[in-house]
Amino acid sequence: MEEMLVPSPPISGPDGAPSGYESAAAAGFTIAFCLEGQLRLDDQPALHDAVALARRHPGSRLIVLATRPEDQRLRGPHQRRIEAQALASLRSRLAAQGIPLLAFPQQTTTAALAELRPLLRPDRLLQAQQSRLFGDWPVSPERFPLVFSDFRRSLERPPEAPLPPPDLTGLGWTAAAWPEAWPQEWLRPVDPDPAADPGPFDGPAEAIDALAVPLGDPLGERYLDPQSDPRSAFPFRGDGPTALARLQHFCFGSDGLRLYKARRNGLVGTEFSSKLSPFLALGSLSVRRIWQEIQRYQALHGADEGSDWLKQELLWREFFLWSEQRHGAAFHRASGLQNRQPAWVENRELFARWCRADGGHPLIDAQLRELRATGYLSNRGRQWVASHFINSLQLPWIWGARFFEWWLIDAEPALNTGNWAYLAGVGSDPRSFGGSPRRFDLERQVGLYDPEQTHRQRWS
Ligand SMILES: Cc1cc2nc3c(=O)[nH]c(=O)nc-3n(C[C@H](O)[C@H](O)[C@H](O)COP(=O)(O)OP(=O)(O)OC[C@H]3O[C@@H](n4cnc5c(N)ncnc54)[C@H](O)[C@@H]3O)c2cc1C
Repeated sequence: MEEMLVPSPPISGPDGAPSGYESAAAAGFTIAFCLEGQLRLDDQPALHDAVALARRHPGSRLIVLATRPEDQRLRGPHQRRIEAQALASLRSRLAAQGIPLLAFPQQTTTAALAELRPLLRPDRLLQAQQSRLFGDWPVSPERFPLVFSDFRRSLERPPEAPLPPPDLTGLGWTAAAWPEAWPQEWLRPVDPDPAADPGPFDGPAEAIDALAVPLGDPLGERYLDPQSDPRSAFPFRGDGPTALARLQHFCFGSDGLRLYKARRNGLVGTEFSSKLSPFLALGSLSVRRIWQEIQRYQALHGADEGSDWLKQELLWREFFLWSEQRHGAAFHRASGLQNRQPAWVENRELFARWCRADGGHPLIDAQLRELRATGYLSNRGRQWVASHFINSLQLPWIWGARFFEWWLIDAEPALNTGNWAYLAGVGSDPRSFGGSPRRFDLERQVGLYDPEQTHRQRWS
């Protein structure tokens, strides 16, 4: 959480006298809460701080700005689709309290404030932070380990508890103060259409041309469809209430959590894994809330393999997030944390075919079709695709990672790079230190996880 004082010089209308809206704004103490890509009201520590501050200044008003973090790249089409849903839901819940949500979803807080300032200068600015289990280093940065098992063993304290949504009563704007002068684009529903902003490929220069193939191909129509593909393993909306409902269903309304370990290598359907990752990536669900619900399940039913395993996966997420923070740019470089240049061939033509799900390997092409049509891919599918890309096609893993980051509905750069680098043998896989990358025997894998070829038929 960060609180900033924003100097607030007198605001005047064009003739020098306070304008209707501006005088209303100047009369109150305005607190801007910037979402920084965290699209929820539940478990937002900085929002609690904003509310506490407002209560100390009677007559305060809150505005919420939907901004993205400084270092976040543009989101791809599937993530934008559910982001628009999450923002619409958040906006209507805030509007019920008279609190405006101004949408600057592809802009940083600095850029959004530059646009806002001519109309309104907030007195205070508070910024949300990414949802993590730990508010501060769970292992000291000096001793931060390279491998997950050491991370888990070295954890210095348990995860933190989530906060409830704050009481926002009385922090809204009266009808008289509601600023008619605000530009409509801040208040309109967010446009999830990527064609409206076709500047996505800001990744590795070598990959840009080859990546820029998608909109013309037969799958293209689906990107613009606000509904997900009916075959999708993630047919949900992206908003906070849907996220909480899915969490309850998985933990208490089905056998999902209990059977998680046994089912998690599945490929088809909604129930083989939690499907919480898209909500986590949007920040529409708090990871501390998930942890708390697993604890509650364990208190009721006792700890079992499924619930323990899901906790472990959430710690993997934590490991990659803190590892990225610890190592900065080195985390994302091609030579990875091991600083070892992997062997690859920069075959752009092969990469372009792969991007179109036309690489010639039916199993991999089916996975890529699913990815492009829905944005979701099972963990097993991701491992197969990445391993094949790295070991059989011998293409640069950073190209594949960038492609995933664009298409995944749950894209989180730290988790995506962490997993790709792991599979490329330059990251945190202990078996790869001094050795070669992990390789999947695809024929054997299909026999184990999709013997009826259900996935392949569905996506052929
Ligand atoms: C090449 C590759 C790229 C990936 N890119 C991403 C990404 O951009 N965003 C993303 O959220 N996950 C990524 N993953 C991890 C994993 O595949 C997804 O988190 C998982 O499939 C999401 O579905 P779920 O929520 O149903 O997972 P579940 O199996 O139900 O797991 C629950 C949660 O645990 C965490 N988790 C699970 N597996 C991993 C893992 N291997 N690494 C880190 N955290 C994990 C996620 O937060 C996930 O939502 C990637 C994996 C691979 C192999």
